[in-house]
Amino acid sequence: MKVLMLGPQGSGKSTQGKLLAEFLDVPYISTGETFRKMAGQDDEVGERVKGLLDQGQLVDDDLTAEVVKKRLNQKDCSAGFVMDGYPRTLQQVEVFDPGFEIVIYLDISDEEATNRLFKRKREDDTLELIQERLTIYHRETEPLLKYYDE
Ligand code: AMP
Repeated sequence: MKVLMLGPQGSGKSTQGKLLAEFLDVPYISTGETFRKMAGQDDEVGERVKGLLDQGQLVDDDLTAEVVKKRLNQKDCSAGFVMDGYPRTLQQVEVFDPGFEIVIYLDISDEEATNRLFKRKREDDTLELIQERLTIYHRETEPLLKYYDE
């Protein structure tokens, strides 16, 4: 089963996604977690990713598609996976579509998302970056709802 968790930051994609992955006995994959690890790497790619994460901006599509494809090609994904974080834009799904069978949409208000994220205390959870990421979510990611609805 290939499942996509969709929704704004703070809606609970990772909490619910991990539980669901455990239940289905498939891996939970988070592009955000992968990029945060990459941002700690002491090389050119690590520096580029860190710069983007520190500004609340999306990582470029080419690198993102490469990272996702590599992960999904691993053996443990053969029976499916729960994906949190990809695709993030319509362009990304045009470049590479993992072929989800189920899309789960978790919806919360920006106000509630901001409150929850502010409590989480991740490095990119300053008020300014939370707002920037929510703006990008509404502009870039929300159109995917209509795409998958159709
Ligand atoms: P998340 O943990 O899903 O909130 O992601 C944290 C950060 O990782 C985002 O703000 C982006 O900078 C980056 N990121 C995660 N997934 C993607 C993606 N599919 N495309 C581009 N950037 C991403």
